[in-house]
Amino acid sequence: MPRQKRSSTPRLPRFSPTRIGLYLFCPRAYFFYYQRGLKWGGLSAGHAFGGSLHRALQAFHERGGVEQVSLEELQAELRERWSAAGYASPEEAAAHLQAGEELLRQYYQSAPEPGRSTLWTERTVQHRYEDFVLFGKVDRLDRRPDGALEVVDYKSGRLTVTAEEVRASLALKVYQLLVARENPGTEVYTGILCLRSGVHVSIHRGAEELEEAEREIRQIVHTLLLDEAMAPIPGPQCRDCVYPRVCPAGRQWLITHDGSWTSPPAARSAETPPSPEAD
Ligand code: SF4
Repeated sequence: MPRQKRSSTPRLPRFSPTRIGLYLFCPRAYFFYYQRGLKWGGLSAGHAFGGSLHRALQAFHERGGVEQVSLEELQAELRERWSAAGYASPEEAAAHLQAGEELLRQYYQSAPEPGRSTLWTERTVQHRYEDFVLFGKVDRLDRRPDGALEVVDYKSGRLTVTAEEVRASLALKVYQLLVARENPGTEVYTGILCLRSGVHVSIHRGAEELEEAEREIRQIVHTLLLDEAMAPIPGPQCRDCVYPRVCPAGRQWLITHDGSWTSPPAARSAETPPSPEAD
């Protein structure tokens, strides 16, 4: 029997906001992480906390949300999905778990805007361009009362956020673009929900703005794809980078500006600098 021919469709490189963000942070750091396979660092408490909350909220919405799940059951979801990895001590992990339960209580009790519904949570969306695939993991997608879609990004470490910060977020720009491209003809908003305070700020991008965002993202990806040198760009971001040990240019910058260079930063926030482990 003749062998079946394999599909000749080439596997395209894949880029997420995290990957693009690390390249913008410093091309050399991108090279170390994605091409040399050097670890970015251990799991931080911020990431561990955010991860456990995301898993609990995913289970909550998949089970039907407030209509079907009690507050106690939601808090039990958190305990069941809790990961103590990334905390400095069992006491620190226990304090975060308690804070997480309180945060979920606020989430549960804050009445959703009338007419708003959650369509899904924690899903990877992607769009294929001719020479790469753009993808990102969306925390939550809502249908707004006006029929538009809204990408909702959870922030577990923040109390407040501004519309400018939402607009400036590369990740949210990518998520909004991806959801818009997968749902042509539907208006798409994007917003940040601060889980600690319930503050929720969202913005809209029209067709022109989305096209501009798409041009910008494609240009960055094309620059990255053609960049063979992945040269270091030493600067203040070296203070947040884990690679000075293997990066002479970064070490030199730190010695010149700070008088010394130290080991990789032990504690980083869940948001900055871009944390490749998030993918
Ligand atoms: S130490 Fe500085 S120059 Fe080197 S990879 Fe990190 S950010 Fe780039």
